[in-house]
Amino acid sequence: MLEIRELCKTYCPKRGVPVKAIDRVSLTLPDRGMVFLLGKSGSGKSTLLNLLGGLDRYDSGDILVKGMSTRAFRQVHFDSYRNTYVGFIFQEYNLLDEFTVGANIALAIELQGRRAENAEINEILREVDLVGYGNRRTNELSGGQKQRVAIARALVKRPEIIMADEPSGALDAATGRAVFETLKKLSAERLVLVVSHDREFAEIYGDRIIELADGRVIEDRTAEPPSEEDATSALTYTEEGIEIPADYELTEEDRLAINAYLKDRDGGRLKVGAAGKKRFRTTAETENEKREEHDLPANNPGKTNADGFRLIKSRLPMRSAFRIGASALGHKKVRLVFTVILSVVAFMLFGLSDTIASYDHVRTATNSIMDSGIRYASFAKTVKNYDYYSDGYKMTDEELAAVREETGLPLVAVYDTDENLSFFESYDTENEDIKALGSRLRASQFVSFAEITEDSMRQMDYELVAGRIPDGQKDEIAISDYIFETFRLGGYAAPDAEVPVTYEKITTYADMLGKTLVLGDTTYTITGVYDTAFDFDRYAILREDINDLPADDALSYFVMMSEFSYEINYGLAAVAYTGEGFLERYLEAHPHRPTIDRDLWFGSQMDNQWSLSAWFDTVTPYSEALPEDVVWLGEEKTVLAPGELIVPIENMNAWNSETGEGVWGSDTVKLLQESNLFMAEYYDHDANKTVAQEFRIVGYIPTNVGNVDEADKDEAFLLYCADEDISFLAEDYGLYAYAVAPMPESRADVERLVKYSVDESSDVRYELQNGVCYELSVVSELLAVLGDVFLWVGVGFALFAALLFSNFIGTSVAYKKQEIGILRAIGSRSNDVFRIFFSESFIIAMINFVISALGTALLAALINSGLREETGLLITILGFGARQIALLFLISVGVAFIASFLPVRRIAAKRPIDAIRDR
Ligand code: ADP
Ligand code: MG
Repeated sequence: MLEIRELCKTYCPKRGVPVKAIDRVSLTLPDRGMVFLLGKSGSGKSTLLNLLGGLDRYDSGDILVKGMSTRAFRQVHFDSYRNTYVGFIFQEYNLLDEFTVGANIALAIELQGRRAENAEINEILREVDLVGYGNRRTNELSGGQKQRVAIARALVKRPEIIMADEPSGALDAATGRAVFETLKKLSAERLVLVVSHDREFAEIYGDRIIELADGRVIEDRTAEPPSEEDATSALTYTEEGIEIPADYELTEEDRLAINAYLKDRDGGRLKVGAAGKKRFRTTAETENEKREEHDLPANNPGKTNADGFRLIKSRLPMRSAFRIGASALGHKKVRLVFTVILSVVAFMLFGLSDTIASYDHVRTATNSIMDSGIRYASFAKTVKNYDYYSDGYKMTDEELAAVREETGLPLVAVYDTDENLSFFESYDTENEDIKALGSRLRASQFVSFAEITEDSMRQMDYELVAGRIPDGQKDEIAISDYIFETFRLGGYAAPDAEVPVTYEKITTYADMLGKTLVLGDTTYTITGVYDTAFDFDRYAILREDINDLPADDALSYFVMMSEFSYEINYGLAAVAYTGEGFLERYLEAHPHRPTIDRDLWFGSQMDNQWSLSAWFDTVTPYSEALPEDVVWLGEEKTVLAPGELIVPIENMNAWNSETGEGVWGSDTVKLLQESNLFMAEYYDHDANKTVAQEFRIVGYIPTNVGNVDEADKDEAFLLYCADEDISFLAEDYGLYAYAVAPMPESRADVERLVKYSVDESSDVRYELQNGVCYELSVVSELLAVLGDVFLWVGVGFALFAALLFSNFIGTSVAYKKQEIGILRAIGSRSNDVFRIFFSESFIIAMINFVISALGTALLAALINSGLREETGLLITILGFGARQIALLFLISVGVAFIASFLPVRRIAAKRPIDAIRDR
């Protein structure tokens, strides 16, 4: 069965000299019988047994198992060899305390890849006299019982070899003897290899005694087969006395034997050794004869060689791995709680960050528009500067036509006027009723003018409730119910009313017909009132003074304020409605001055170190009559040619780079006359270059420095140029601030508009203007930042959690070293060790996963409902779903496995003996 050839093992302790624990030992062990390894403490018995059991590696020589050399064995082969052939019994029993007696035994069966049946376990318990102990916990047993369980565990594998290292060492004499009796019985069918330092036991039970000293075999004796007489003798000699069958008659041989027995009694004590009439002789050289070596084909364990050598790879059932893995969790509660809390925080941050990342602006905006019942679809031009689309741009007629075409909406264009269209002097601002409406809700000015037709008002669903549509050829306007409400509460007074003013009470829509309002420099007559179904109730909170509101309502107040101001500034409620042809007349009287929105630089460098520069807000095309007070630098002109400018002198300034001298206003005239060449340039971000154009200053408008009133100040920044140069000087020269149509009713149409509004394919786009879209754009910017923050904070936390996790598993490994050693000794592979700890990690991972998934879902729901309740907007911003659940699962399991890999690999790679020793 086992052959040992020239076996050597030297320990090299970290401190001290190397110890030759086994020194050139050669032995052949029989297939059955009880063989004792005898010797003083430190003689190398345990070392030899461990080498034979594959718990430790030898340095040189060889051990052959069924003719199979183990030289080329790796740890996994030794593990399987033990699993297949060896039952180990330790002095300290080495049972798994987490398990019951039955489970300890079942585990050994299962490691061999068999099913553990109750019948088999009960049978083996009966063999070791432990019937009914199957469900007992091992730590409730006495030492002797524990050792019998250990024997049962070894036995149940039906091993061909049982190895026992001082099996009675921790037991009292009687119990120890019982253990030997059991082992003796077992040796009838297999090799039982026992390490002992007790010569008496060895001689009673041993079939062969191999004595070691200093790592060498100093004596090797085999018991003589019992003689004829011994075999037929009916007497039994025991320590307590001699057993004689009742109807037995003593023979002469018996008498001699009894005398010899009595003579051997020593000082009143019975000398046991004398009971056996065993005689030992030196083991014959032939018995140590080497047998033929049979290698496996290609050294492949799992196949069988000529002697029947084969290996069963252990496989720790997942259930048992889980049980062992779970058992340690309870021992490190605080650490576990910390690990879980930290991981959960990290994973929740991930979960939220992903939830945020999957925020769908189009869907949310569509839902929110539908839910909040916004009835107008208003578009304003925005232009991309760097990364952002900024607003404040005006639409040209062509652009308006394009937006009408692209959206398919009957858009009413609202003109962008510079005039102040306020009328607060026409109603009583001190009236109690108007005060009740609140300063925010009451109207005091028109936003602008828009031309309407009967068709367009019908399409808006606005009903003419009094009067008629205004005539575009006259200074006539129609007003909305929103404007009307202010007069209904505040009364009306004519612009030329005498002081003290008395206000006329307005009750019906018709009361406003024929009334006049002075807007800017013109007096307009009201010809009609339209019911736009303006919803004052919706904005009821704005009647309150913000200072009187509870803090809880503040957010809601601001949200409604933003919605309201969008509806007023981008809707039709506060627009003065005019008839067709009005705008043409109006523009003649109030020329449209395009705003200079580009980052334009005006200036020139002169030869005499002077630089001349200016800054302008608006340009005026020459088609407007040239100002009368122009001072011409050359000949007088009636029309500006391309490249010619008239500048207000007040805005000019100059600086001398040599002397540091600076001059401005009228003092720059001399310099202007010297060099009238002027440069205008701007940086084109798309083309990535500076675009410049040369201009000549052909005239200037003189002003009195130090005596500038408000109107003149505006004039100071006004530039006169040829029509052809407008598009160079002013990026934005459209007429319309925005254009409004009714919001479509179908969800699909709303979604189409939202998509159109956020389309990024062009640098100019027309964005939907309403409170919801504004809030959501703020929200989505906020979410983008928040998502990033959560992600990186989450990464930080996750790293920390992984470290904590690793440390947790590390302590767990330290805590379970003994169990691992035991498992390895009874035949489990390092793979099984991974299983145990990965199942422990998996349990924690699942705890983390469940808590963080629930937590993230809860947080997302809280944020959603919080936003809804606080703002009154029906928006669902965060969508927590299957995607986030899957992500959290992967992260939880991933972090757990990665974090436990290193500490587990360290223990799994250990030799089993080191794992056992290392308690
Ligand atoms: P026994 O079991 O006969 O008492 P061992 O086989 O345990 O003896 O030890 C044999 C010798 O090897 C002793 O001198 C012991 O000190 C030494 N030894 C055993 N294990 C180690 C070890 N892990 N490291 C260093 N020396 C060891
Ligand atoms: Mg020992």
